[in-house]
Amino acid sequence: MNKVLEVNDLHVSFDTYAGEVKAVRGVTFELHEGEVLAIVGESGCGKSVTAQTIMKLNPMPPARIVSGEIQLAGKNIVKATEKEMMNIRGKDVSMIFQDPMTCLNPTMQVGKQLTEAIRHHQNLSKEAAHKEALRLLELVNIPNVKQRAKQYPHEFSGGMRQRVMIAMALSCAPKLLIADEPTTALDVTIQAQIMDLLQEIKEKTNTAIILITHDLGVVASMADRVAVMYAGKVVETGTAEEIFYRPSHPYTRALLKSLPTVEMDRSVRLVSIAGTPPDLLNPPVGCPFASRCEHAMKICIEEMPPQFDPSDNHQAACWLLHEDCPSKKDGGE
Ligand code: SF4
Ligand code: MG
Repeated sequence: MNKVLEVNDLHVSFDTYAGEVKAVRGVTFELHEGEVLAIVGESGCGKSVTAQTIMKLNPMPPARIVSGEIQLAGKNIVKATEKEMMNIRGKDVSMIFQDPMTCLNPTMQVGKQLTEAIRHHQNLSKEAAHKEALRLLELVNIPNVKQRAKQYPHEFSGGMRQRVMIAMALSCAPKLLIADEPTTALDVTIQAQIMDLLQEIKEKTNTAIILITHDLGVVASMADRVAVMYAGKVVETGTAEEIFYRPSHPYTRALLKSLPTVEMDRSVRLVSIAGTPPDLLNPPVGCPFASRCEHAMKICIEEMPPQFDPSDNHQAACWLLHEDCPSKKDGGE
């Protein structure tokens, strides 16, 4: 499998009046063709900033790449100019957002918008591009594409607009598709349909997908691998199976516990994680989760835990995994 993306020790900061907010602090991961990586974590953990940095969309307030590397389809885009990025966006990487209206033009027929997007990146005749636009609308399961293509975005339902946006994002056959909370604004049934659609696209086109969400439940069905972010860091990565069935980091375990579970009496139980994430203006020197962790030890506060490998293809940054950790020796967690 070809490597599509490699993010290496990425640091991104916001310069604010109060000082430097270290939003992303040493994030490393990679992604291959046809693979879905879910990046999960609470709001403010740095997942969207990471995604926008890969697009070089410069998240607000103005963010700055402090250090690190982003290799996208063999190019280090940290050094790419805006002009080069305009070519890379769409062709190599494309993004779908929570609100489809951010990238659909309300005054233009949907088919026409798609045709123009295709012609912008591909050297196709108007006729061929129009044909391709209809093919993409079919790919995202829009019914009666010929009539639908002549309609305006407001004539589509929320879920259908989301499909059109996905078609737009696919119009240049990107190697990487980033979906940032793509279903948050939709109701549960439509959410499931959009997730099924992304899964279908992955199978049909072999596009690598980064799925960003605060909801671990959403990723269960489609992620191959999961990266859990906390306070600007990836605290655990593994296959979806490892993360769901053998989570190693106390934060991942807490996130899993916070998933709604339907109890015997059919009431929905939600456990929230007590406490708040650290202030990234002054991040702690030790483990960022220490103030909320029931297992926190002295070393957790004093020293940042490195990544340990609880099993193959599975890493977690937690001192509990150190071979000399007393609870590990006792055969505890
Ligand atoms: Fe908890 Fe320590 Fe592990 Fe951090 S390193 S998650 S504080 S046990
Ligand atoms: Mg976000």
